[in-house]
Amino acid sequence: MNDRKYFNTVFQTIFEKNGLSGMLTPGTVDAFADLTDIMLETNEHMNVTAITDVEKIIQLHYADCAVLSAVIPEGARVLDVGCGGGFPTLPLAILRTDLRITALDSTEKKVRYVAETADKLGLKIQALTGRAEDLAAANTGYREQFDVVVSRAVARMNILDELCLPFVRKDGLFLCMKGAAGREELAEAEKGIGKLGGRIESVTESTLYLTDKQEARCLIAVRKEKYTPGAYPRTFAKIKKAPL
Ligand code: SAH
Repeated sequence: MNDRKYFNTVFQTIFEKNGLSGMLTPGTVDAFADLTDIMLETNEHMNVTAITDVEKIIQLHYADCAVLSAVIPEGARVLDVGCGGGFPTLPLAILRTDLRITALDSTEKKVRYVAETADKLGLKIQALTGRAEDLAAANTGYREQFDVVVSRAVARMNILDELCLPFVRKDGLFLCMKGAAGREELAEAEKGIGKLGGRIESVTESTLYLTDKQEARCLIAVRKEKYTPGAYPRTFAKIKKAPL
């Protein structure tokens, strides 16, 4: 178990440095400390995260995902496409208990871990195993259903748009978390976003402050203006071979 006093100090420092302290409420930091314990313990027998240093976990997982928390509307039904080891799902669930979050990944083991971890932390989420392009089909009950779809580190934006936008309800939002190459990826994806019924609403560039350096982040918000045509999403092979 990590040293709680050390964890609290490092956590507060990093959140403050990144202007995120305002979103902390009593119990939040403890929940993140518990999550860190569970994640590192599980990581000994299963690949949950490549980052194992506590300070880096707080910076690159928690602070990075916390930025998203400030832009999601109250009570939204949220889908995390490719949640992996629970990012951004778990930080969002800790910081925003008003949200109804569904965590989706194609790897069953990861989904099970995320569901069990949420359970241990007393967080209510829904967990879903499957491929996004299959679950976004018309007859599954997930298409055009979510107020907000989020995704981090899953694919380039011109592939990700076809995996995510079909899930967004009309007038809902797709929030795509990108790094320094965000604008470049967006330029590649612009045409496809239109075909999928989306309109680029905003591009917010920010800085993630680490201990001795900083990294660029880019949050792309796409508004779903029209229903996604039934032809999308295509099979993954097609999406990859010929991005829209
Ligand atoms: N979002 C997490 C994990 C990123 S790794 C984070 O930021 O840390 C990418 C994850 O996306 C993997 O767990 C992989 O299984 C999942 N994934 C990739 N393509 C997918 C698809 N088409 N449908 C569902 N999950 C997918």
